[in-house]
Amino acid sequence: MIIPMVCGDSGGSEQNRSDEVILCPVCQKEGNHVRNVTVRHLVKKELAGKAGQCDYRICMNEKCDVAYYSEDLSIIFEKEDLKVPLWYKEDASPRYACYCSRITEEDVIRAVREQKITEMNAIRKHYDPEAKCQCNVKNPTGKCCTNAFNSFIKKAPDGE
Ligand SMILES: [Zn+2]
Repeated sequence: MIIPMVCGDSGGSEQNRSDEVILCPVCQKEGNHVRNVTVRHLVKKELAGKAGQCDYRICMNEKCDVAYYSEDLSIIFEKEDLKVPLWYKEDASPRYACYCSRITEEDVIRAVREQKITEMNAIRKHYDPEAKCQCNVKNPTGKCCTNAFNSFIKKAPDGE
């Protein structure tokens, strides 16, 4: 982790850079915009204070160790700095499909194969009848888990 200074202390002015392309400083791939609140919730407790006020990018490269980098590149959080594994990183374990209900890839595959449920919300209800969507603070991408969830459903072989 590299923390040379506190980012984004510009008096709380809301800069909207979310459309800007900002490459991961390690792998040079384009990262997706993630709000500060999401990063604060996902990094380990002792690191949350280092997150500053700025927004971040999440590195979507499965082989890269970087999880988040600040938009001014002054702060990098690696995947080990997070409370939960990043589902798409190659060594993620467990691989969560839904962070809100803690449903893993295996749970999804089991529901598809054994319960013949192939619809995301039905699978969610199956495991967590009280499921509430809190993806903005629970999912590391800050977005809803639909894409990950559906990719696991598609991946689940039909069984016999
Ligand atoms: Zn990267």
